[in-house]
Amino acid sequence: MPETNLLKNGTSAVPTVQTPLPNYIDNEWQKSTANELLDVTNPATGEVLTRVPLSPTEEVHQAATAAAAAGHEWRRTPAVQRIQYLFTLKNLLEENLDDIAKTITLECGKTLDEARGEMRRAIENVEVACGIPTLMQGTNLEDIATGIDEFMIRQPVGVCAAIAPFNFPGMITFWFLPYAIACGNTYIVKPSEKVPITMQKVFQLLEQTGLPKGVVNLVNGGRETVDAILTHPDIRAISFVGATATAKAIYAKAAANGKRVQCQGGAKNPLIVLPDADPEFTINATAESAFGCAGQRCLAASLTLTVGAARNWFTEAIADTATNRVVGNGLEDGIEMGPVITPESRKRIEGLIQAGTDEGAQLLVDGRYPSIPGGENGNFIRPTILNNLNPQGEIAKTEIFGPVLGLIHVETIDDAIELINSGSYGNMACLFTRSGASARKFRYEAEIGNIGINIGVAAPMAFFPFSGWKDSFFGDLHGQSWDAVDFFTQKKVVVERWV
Ligand code: NAD
Repeated sequence: MPETNLLKNGTSAVPTVQTPLPNYIDNEWQKSTANELLDVTNPATGEVLTRVPLSPTEEVHQAATAAAAAGHEWRRTPAVQRIQYLFTLKNLLEENLDDIAKTITLECGKTLDEARGEMRRAIENVEVACGIPTLMQGTNLEDIATGIDEFMIRQPVGVCAAIAPFNFPGMITFWFLPYAIACGNTYIVKPSEKVPITMQKVFQLLEQTGLPKGVVNLVNGGRETVDAILTHPDIRAISFVGATATAKAIYAKAAANGKRVQCQGGAKNPLIVLPDADPEFTINATAESAFGCAGQRCLAASLTLTVGAARNWFTEAIADTATNRVVGNGLEDGIEMGPVITPESRKRIEGLIQAGTDEGAQLLVDGRYPSIPGGENGNFIRPTILNNLNPQGEIAKTEIFGPVLGLIHVETIDDAIELINSGSYGNMACLFTRSGASARKFRYEAEIGNIGINIGVAAPMAFFPFSGWKDSFFGDLHGQSWDAVDFFTQKKVVVERWV
């Protein structure tokens, strides 16, 4: 297969990639037999980087068969030996961090700093999973009756799979894969067809760790590929991250097929600003949350609810900050915000901005149709502010997934919390204040899984679970940390008498 340079500008550590992208099954790079291939494009330039196959059912079957066969030996490999591969992977990820970050920027559009930050969280998850010999321990009680002991041990589930979204091409697989394999499972990854190159890089590193055949597998694809994963009898557990509509459908189908399943969905994340908040800090944190990664984080702020007098200092200052944000190609120095993922996404976001104004909002900063030097074919939208957004309208409830912040002004913190709790999502909410009592009230009453107090992006570190609620999550156990250990193990309880 031909290999091409992705960067045309002579930058060092140039990422390279094959066309079309191969799958990685049973430790072999295999050309897919897919009839359908999609272009993978650079969102900043519109340039085609490579082509991705939409792998047919048969290729999922090959991966599942390889993973099932590998599982026999892998679960018998002591946990202390299994984690040695993760220590090697951590070092390889550190050494190749810049190359992977450039790849993320090229195919996803975010800035290099954002891409590096994404990979730091990925590495952190590998580090946490290296603790599996401790984290995977069971419990026991001697003499539940005289001479009888009872204990609980954890065993791997079997073949597990991840289905990933476009917005974190590197990190999201790492919420799952390191824990899964450290616990003795074998694994299949289906990346987003919009950003499949980063996983090629990651799997090249996984190959270098010397993991036994079939322990980790990569199958590129779209709906047919996902359907094959959801119905394959050898695949026992599925982790999905993506839009709520997809999450709901995948949760239902996987559960109907008897799988263990965790599905993280979309969001509409509000920030509350109280009058006593530190203005400069709050504005900077809000801008970073709303416009970082071009608003394409599941933890991006989409609404700000200013309480009382906060409206006066917040509105003008956030408009200034939005207007002055430096937008362009994320590979260039000094760029603070890149493009959104596709032309379709840009058009959808432009339509939602229009819908917000149709519902009565004031278009305080209009980021549509910007002129970005060199970005004529890119999917650019500048930061946009919809002031006085109708709290009962559709746009106050719809995930925009772009650099658009809606402002709603309320009288009390109770009004703000009531509005937040009336929404259907529960991914993240943040409060800016200097009052401990207000912070406690908010933390206690908000029906939201990830809470920030004077934090704009309340992303849990790898040693805590990533905890969405309501329509932002379907399932029980979340990604990362001890939830991941619970998800990737099944409990066995033994009652034993030897006398
Ligand atoms: P998406 O739902 O369109 O796609 C996610 C994955 O599902 C992809 O691999 C895609 O190939 C597959 N897919 C899409 N439609 C499918 C269908 N009908 N049948 C089977 N498979 C299908 O999501 P996206 O646009 O890639 O990602 C953005 C969304 O992900 C946003 O809604 C964002 O909030 C959400 N997200 C949530 C979290 C979280 O932790 N809650 C994290 C990141 C992203």
